[in-house]
Amino acid sequence: MTERPPRPPRAEPREVIELKQIKTSQPELSAAVDMQLALVEMQRRVQGRVPLPWIQVDPTWLRAQQAAGRPLVRFRDIPLDWSDFRLTFRQTADILLRFDALERADHHRIVALAREGNVLEPLVTAWYDATSGVDATAASDPRGTKSVPLGSDPNADPKAAALADAPPGIDHVLVLALRPFLARCAEALTKQIDVSSWNHGHCPFCGWEPDFAVITPAAERRLICGRCVAQWSFASLTCPFCRNDDRALITSFATRDGRYRVYACDVCRKYLKAYDARYASRPLLVAVDTIATLPLDAAAIQKGYTG
Ligand SMILES: [Zn+2]
Ligand SMILES: [Zn+2]
Repeated sequence: MTERPPRPPRAEPREVIELKQIKTSQPELSAAVDMQLALVEMQRRVQGRVPLPWIQVDPTWLRAQQAAGRPLVRFRDIPLDWSDFRLTFRQTADILLRFDALERADHHRIVALAREGNVLEPLVTAWYDATSGVDATAASDPRGTKSVPLGSDPNADPKAAALADAPPGIDHVLVLALRPFLARCAEALTKQIDVSSWNHGHCPFCGWEPDFAVITPAAERRLICGRCVAQWSFASLTCPFCRNDDRALITSFATRDGRYRVYACDVCRKYLKAYDARYASRPLLVAVDTIATLPLDAAAIQKGYTG
């Protein structure tokens, strides 16, 4: 590589530039970078046309939800245009197939779901209600709907039941396809609501688990939601998945340059990666840092932890 590529006519977003740089510095990650570039470009396009929602939150309800550890975004708060969601869902599945992150047979079934008029909407609603833990009924949902998927056992785990008959891999597609819509909710609520007292391991807005973290220059650890990309503060040496806070049972290791760190829990065996902004020249870029740290996933898995 002696020649630099010609400058693009319009300035590219920083995350795109940095992702492309990873292909040079870590060529073994090229396929993962290309998939991420395709996802980032699609999500930016969608997010650009999703309106910032105006979410009215009753202060009494808000306090009760927060006190009960329940997140705040109800499904009806998501500015979801169904035809746009269907398109995003299908394009996400296509990208995952193209990069072998989805089996062809599963892709076929997933895309068929999006074509059938009356299947995808109740499935997405039930999946979100089950995985967010938002108490939508207490919030006097005007539609009064509490959708339960057909054929599901009401006593079974609602999270598993919501996708019981769905093809494998659909949860991955749902998380990515819902992100541009849900991220706008988190963006709106972050401006409106103080979540500094939230000390749970799950997202204060959508209830999903963190899948990355950032250590701020003030040495505070902030977790980043794996679904809506919202951030919240959380004790540095407590496991967000099982709340183990015995420092002797948290294994932490960093990359040689100190840029990235892994926190692994010796109780539940789960791990979380972090970007250490104390030793960095730029702020966190979630789409970039999750890819640049793929070798850390391999190292953590080799030590017997699971993501
Ligand atoms: Zn979230
Ligand atoms: Zn744990």
